Amino acid sequence: MPSRLLSHLPTDLQVATIDFKHTTMLDSHSHFYCDAFDNDREAVVARAREAGVRHVILPNENLESVPRLAAMREQYPGYISMTLGLHPEDVHDDYHDVLDQMHPMFDQYPVIAIGEIGIDLYWDKTWRIQQQHALDIQLHWCHELDLPFIIHCREGLDDILDVIDHLDCPVPRGVFHSFTGTPEDVARIRQRGDFYFGVNGIVTFKKSAVPQLLPVIGLDRLLLETDSPYLAPVPNRGKRNESANIPYINAFIGNALGVNPEEVSAATDRNAASLFGLEL
Ligand SMILES: [Zn+2]
Repeated sequence: MPSRLLSHLPTDLQVATIDFKHTTMLDSHSHFYCDAFDNDREAVVARAREAGVRHVILPNENLESVPRLAAMREQYPGYISMTLGLHPEDVHDDYHDVLDQMHPMFDQYPVIAIGEIGIDLYWDKTWRIQQQHALDIQLHWCHELDLPFIIHCREGLDDILDVIDHLDCPVPRGVFHSFTGTPEDVARIRQRGDFYFGVNGIVTFKKSAVPQLLPVIGLDRLLLETDSPYLAPVPNRGKRNESANIPYINAFIGNALGVNPEEVSAATDRNAASLFGLEL
């Protein structure tokens, strides 16, 4: 591993001196609609804007979260984009009914992606087959509605690739969010399509293998994300995460790749604009 990957983490000062004014620097994955932010959401948005984060994408989880996302979109016009989809951890035996109720909502809300969808067998393998079916249905939605997917994968890559391999429609475009796999996993994913990979605070953690993945993925397929309120980057690790932490992730990626942080924000802006059809 090149020694620069082990070099010092970006400090507050370094982040504060980066000039992001020519870039959008967006957070492509935040749950800031959740109740962890109910008491200070205004301040959280103000801090994100102040930090140079100019757009935030909110991935949906289930039927209950939809009105929350829609409300955020109305409350912060132009600042928020929303998605629709059923999170794998919310897939149970009623998933068919849930998806039937969700599908008409695409006519109701301006949605930029289908997500987050995928397979999560980390805590519970009970609903594995149902998660596979729900993923298959929602990948068909991507094709039908010409929207990209946001994939959540935890101990689920084999199943996800299997679902993709058995799709009876063209493979849609999309992002594997919070990606922490191996270089071999990147290669296996790329055999199925030219996808993007979302990188969050995990990249800054001491024993993280993600820095070594960055050159494998390449700047032109990376997306910045927080996955807030989870996974706050160093130097805020362990605290509630928020979009204002994006510059730390951005600066760390620049450091690891040996490129200027503005190049990282410009490239990840372009990637997000291209994948999600955003006009930034
Ligand atoms: Zn998420």
